[in-house]
Amino acid sequence: MKYVRPIIQDLKAYIPGEQPKIAGLVKLNTNENPYPPAPAVLEAVRSAVDARLRLYPNPTADRLREKLADLHKCQPENIIVGNGSDEILALAVRAFVEPKSACTEQTQNKCLVQFFDPSYSLYPVLAAIHGALPNPVPLRSDFSLPDIDELMNSSNWRFDAALTLITTPNAPSGKGYSTRDLEMLCKAQNGVVLLDEAYVDFAEENAMALALKLENTLVARTFSKAYSLCFQRIGYCVGPAYLIEALMKIKDSYNVNGLGQIAAFATLENVEYYKNNFCKIITTRTTLTNELRLLGFEVYPSSTNFILTKPPKTHAENWLKLLRENNILVRWFPYPRVKDYLRITIGSDDEINKLIIAIRKILNNL
Ligand code: PMP
Repeated sequence: MKYVRPIIQDLKAYIPGEQPKIAGLVKLNTNENPYPPAPAVLEAVRSAVDARLRLYPNPTADRLREKLADLHKCQPENIIVGNGSDEILALAVRAFVEPKSACTEQTQNKCLVQFFDPSYSLYPVLAAIHGALPNPVPLRSDFSLPDIDELMNSSNWRFDAALTLITTPNAPSGKGYSTRDLEMLCKAQNGVVLLDEAYVDFAEENAMALALKLENTLVARTFSKAYSLCFQRIGYCVGPAYLIEALMKIKDSYNVNGLGQIAAFATLENVEYYKNNFCKIITTRTTLTNELRLLGFEVYPSSTNFILTKPPKTHAENWLKLLRENNILVRWFPYPRVKDYLRITIGSDDEINKLIIAIRKILNNL
């Protein structure tokens, strides 16, 4: 242990959702997409598996950035591609936040990584790894955003935090936020705001325009959820060129693997296929919500590919176990605001039918 830095010794690492090796499980725990990538994407990856694997990939994912720039009507200089959007989040902490050791009480704002509670549980871990100060601020009880007046009156919201990370739509609640509210918040902040839009393709609106108009705002997206590409690890971030340049400076030289760049490029040429999948997932989300409510579950309206639900009769952690005994994997978080809930990924109709059958069986035995 003596060689390991104390902050790493003390670190409570992020625990990713389980990726079980057992066949036949209904996997509704990590918000993966139940539908495969478009056939043309699989073909593009397959036909790239040849002698070029010996070469390094393009270090700045230029073809993909150009394609993304077309999509978002900006320049490639406004875009960085990452090894998943998790890498983008880590880069943002490293680029914009000072470690505690570099701050005095007067300059404490410079070492703050601010985020709402609950939101993505990786944020405090990234702050801790960097030796920065996490600043969790509660969302309202229905998981909506506090307005500016509430934040002004809140004891711990900091308008001068170096970095504010906002999961929008929110995870794990699934709550969608309006661009208007987000814009007010971004404009009120005197620091960088990163809008983490990992689930935005399942929502009613997105805030990409803010990253192209405000000098302090970034929007992070991923190919993992809506575009069925978790395995390839591709995320990206859009924003003002001077902020993107800072992220570019500190990324690993070859941070995005070559097959991932090819897969993401091909994905953008097949968007219609994915839009059809978004529709299917949104329809299944409505079916699941209605079915669960009939069975006595409380379900929050969702703008994502998962729902947050409070199960009846026995506590959520026990439901996690009971569902697992029925070969169904969902997610439960041991955090105060959400410990009474399960987060369930929207799977295929067949998977959701199996879930409902298992829930009925469990309820009959409770
Ligand atoms: N943001 C949020 C809110 C997420 O839930 C996730 C997935 N766990 C990510 C970002 C990261 O996704 P990826 O690294 O696969 O792009």
